[in-house]
Amino acid sequence: MSPQWIVIGVLIALVYFIFIKKKPLPGENQKRKNDKLNEDDMVECKKCGTYITLNEALLKEGQYFCSDECLNA
Ligand SMILES: [Zn+2]
Repeated sequence: MSPQWIVIGVLIALVYFIFIKKKPLPGENQKRKNDKLNEDDMVECKKCGTYITLNEALLKEGQYFCSDECLNA
C-alpha cells in the first residue's frame, strides 16, 4: 500500500465523518414538536373562522377550533 492511498483513505474517512456529523443540525431538534408548525403559529378555527395560536387551538380530527363551543357545535 502506497502512502497516497492512505492519504486518500483518510480524506474519504474525513469527508464521511463530516457528512455524518452534519445530519443532526444544532437547534433543529429543539423545534421538532410539530413537523412544520410552531405553537406560536396562527391557525383558523374551523367553525367560526377566528384565528388563534396553535398553542391555544383545540385539535379534533385534524381540524382546529378556538373553543369548546366551536369544538362541540
Ligand atoms: Zn371558533
